[in-house]
Amino acid sequence: MPPYQNLKFKNRFIDLGPEFYQEKQPDPVTDPYLVDYSPSVGALIDLPSEGGSDFLEKFSGNQPMEGARPLAMAYGGHQFGSYNPRLGDGRGLLLGEVLNKENISWDVHLKGAGPTRFARGFDGRATLQSSIREHLGSEALSGLGIPSTRSLAVIGIRELIYRKKPELAAILVRIADSHIRFGSFEYFHKTNQPKNVERLAEFAIQNHHKDLWNEPERYRIFFRRVLTLTAKLIAKWQAVGFVHGVMNTDNMTITGTTFDYGPYGFIDQFNPSYTPNSSDTHGRYAYQQQPEIGFWNLNKLAETLIPLVGSDQLQEEIKQYQPIFNGFYREEMGRKLGISILDEDFSQLTQEMFQLLINHHVDYSNFFRLLANYPDKIEKLQFDVGMHSWLENYLKLCEREGTNHKERKKKMDAVNPKFILRTHLVQNALEKSLKDSDFSEVKRLRVLMEDPFKDKPELFQEYDIDSDLYSQATPKEFLGRQTSCSA
Ligand code: AMP
Ligand code: MG
Repeated sequence: MPPYQNLKFKNRFIDLGPEFYQEKQPDPVTDPYLVDYSPSVGALIDLPSEGGSDFLEKFSGNQPMEGARPLAMAYGGHQFGSYNPRLGDGRGLLLGEVLNKENISWDVHLKGAGPTRFARGFDGRATLQSSIREHLGSEALSGLGIPSTRSLAVIGIRELIYRKKPELAAILVRIADSHIRFGSFEYFHKTNQPKNVERLAEFAIQNHHKDLWNEPERYRIFFRRVLTLTAKLIAKWQAVGFVHGVMNTDNMTITGTTFDYGPYGFIDQFNPSYTPNSSDTHGRYAYQQQPEIGFWNLNKLAETLIPLVGSDQLQEEIKQYQPIFNGFYREEMGRKLGISILDEDFSQLTQEMFQLLINHHVDYSNFFRLLANYPDKIEKLQFDVGMHSWLENYLKLCEREGTNHKERKKKMDAVNPKFILRTHLVQNALEKSLKDSDFSEVKRLRVLMEDPFKDKPELFQEYDIDSDLYSQATPKEFLGRQTSCSA
């Protein structure tokens, strides 16, 4: 039996009723072709390690999937600070929730499956370019150990769509723990449907935070959980230098997962005001703003829960965001620096480090790999007297906890990536894909980013990966590059 007939669809979301979605089959496409397929994501829902023609027919939406009840979700959300009441899956469809062998449930979602009633006049499609970007971004974050939606495959479709110019189109097969967004709550709150806010909260708890079900104040604790997961996620983004680029409330989920990859980017030369989104002219979603925007977005979620939890109670909860975030962030930075006593001296050391990185235009990711070798190869780090004295302070903090430098290097190299999804690498993969339909670079990057912490000589040989080349700092002409939302 073809493996796709074994998929166990649950369709729990359907039970919420038609106010929550539009039921719709994906639009058929002509001659779908495989751009890239991730075997490790396939394994999450017990799929084979390759996506054959049967896979393409099913996951492009050409053939209905047995047991699936595809639907477009209704949601609203704040975009760049203003509420947009008419969002919803304009081009996405939740095929259903698939139960794997281990009884873990995964949402299977197609992005770019044709217009739905939420499409607002747009074409319901996604560009090949943006689909490859999301595919690589999600696999890179997951490889870094950061919660993220996953990308099973990019399926090219032979259809031209129009953005600033004609573009190739594709469908992204997204696998996620949940597609419930802060904006899903906002939609029912803003349309004065308090009963449905409650039903959604109940659904979210029952299916995604089941351990809270018997809590006497379960909606309050649910909010605390979402707040904690969000703070933890953003602390991880900050530590690794990831900038989401579009932290609208419809792109934040109740499981604290990196969600909806658009014009994202990684910090190269350290610059806290970097925003990868070319439409973000005021830097609302810049690197240094992300923790604050997380707080802002949580406030929007809290507003929808006032009738269920109470305003004073939510105030109490939201006050905890800053200390919770700071705690996670300090731990992340401690791990990056290989230090475990995280006191005032440590905070001062990190602050001074950031200032030096800014002053000397240092490549953020490569800095930590160099530092792991310290005190060996010290010459690569001594940019000036300031850095020299910083290194002495660093050594003092290592010594006060009796650090063994070999052990420290091992620990630091396990959390500081050697390979980062740098703009020029993505750009190269996109150029080959779009100009020559050569997707080998997409595959190479996906394989490399699955475990970005170390060289794997055999694998690198198989995929023709030159470790030095892929770990190099971003070339000058690509520094601080931005992408537009539609690209
Ligand atoms: P996104 O930028 O993917 O987060 O999308 C923001 C909103 O616009 C969501 O409601 C999408 O469903 C919708 N949207 C974006 N592009 C399209 C498109 N080409 N067709 C229909 N809806 C779209
Ligand atoms: Mg979105």
